Amino acid sequence: IRILAIESSCDETATAVVENGRKLIANVVSTQIEIHKQYGGVFPEVASRQHVLAISTVIEETIRKAHMSVKDFDAIAVTRGPGLAGSLVVGVNAAKGLALATGLPLIGVNHLEGHIYSAWLYPQEEQEIPPVPEFPAVILLVSGGHSEIILMKSHLQYERLGGTLDDAAGEAFDKVARLIGLSYPGGPSIQKAAVLGDPKKFNFPRSRLEGTWDFSFSGLKTAVLRMVRQLEKESGELPVADLAASFQASVVDVLFEKTMMAARKYQAKSVVIAGGVSANQALRDAFKAQKEFSLFIPRLMFCTDNAAMVGAAAYQRFLLNRWDDFDMDVMPTWPLTRVSL
Ligand code: ATP
Ligand code: MG
Ligand code: FE
Repeated sequence: IRILAIESSCDETATAVVENGRKLIANVVSTQIEIHKQYGGVFPEVASRQHVLAISTVIEETIRKAHMSVKDFDAIAVTRGPGLAGSLVVGVNAAKGLALATGLPLIGVNHLEGHIYSAWLYPQEEQEIPPVPEFPAVILLVSGGHSEIILMKSHLQYERLGGTLDDAAGEAFDKVARLIGLSYPGGPSIQKAAVLGDPKKFNFPRSRLEGTWDFSFSGLKTAVLRMVRQLEKESGELPVADLAASFQASVVDVLFEKTMMAARKYQAKSVVIAGGVSANQALRDAFKAQKEFSLFIPRLMFCTDNAAMVGAAAYQRFLLNRWDDFDMDVMPTWPLTRVSL
């Protein structure tokens, strides 16, 4: 089963061809990061118009790279939400056009379940087929707009154990990067700066919110802000590497500890980390160092937004004959817990 998938929920115009929900045949991601950098974040109006400009080329390039034609596909999948309405509409309409022209089924996917299913993907060149997460799985989903711990007892079934009460983990990276003078997106900038820093230099708070599976990163952000102001007053120069490393260590500690506690409590057979922040090397290293649970982390290319993950999630729906009608609308806010079969 081959699915052509489209993703346009934020500032990446992406399409991919995925076989049997796992094997990547072709993948194209056109990012608008350079355009949004000047605003220090995603500018919605600009984002949707950039999708309009890019989408046809991106689809064509993907089909060409796959060495296939539309008749080789079994379904067209697209991200329906959550995301920016004006951006989602571009992908959804392109998917409808393709489905209409080919007669193929149209499958709408939740962007967050896409992030989760990125852990099932592997590149075509892979010699050995990697194993898949076993259920029950505890998922740490950490991205630009979301930070949640999810319990998955079977495919397409998501039980939200907890999540952030304020900023998402990726958002915290982005905001703190700006505070210490690093460029957007903050995650990669902080990771890079942190390499030369001392993670123990500043003892930033670790908000554990015991007795819940929730997170909070706003106190940490405020603590960094206070430290920055104090340091600027004292010396005028910021130890950017130490600030980045100490902030990163605080985020990683909390994400790691809480996920491990949830995995123990729910007797998980596997732990999955996904979403843009799962690209973070310190976070990956923390999870890789534990031997209690079998761990699934998407390859780097599948951590931040891409369409392959949408094709992977859509495959599970395809197997159940769950496709959507042509009046399918976008859902800018669409929690995982409201995803139904
Ligand atoms: P959502 O998936 O919640 O709708 P999004 O799609 O904008 O949000 P993603 O593309 O999944 O988010 O992830 C982008 C986020 O990941 C940004 O906040 C970015 O700073 C963060 N990120 C990317 N790489 C890293 C990294 N190496 N370390 C930490 N954070 C990272
Ligand atoms: Mg993005
Ligand atoms: Fe995302």
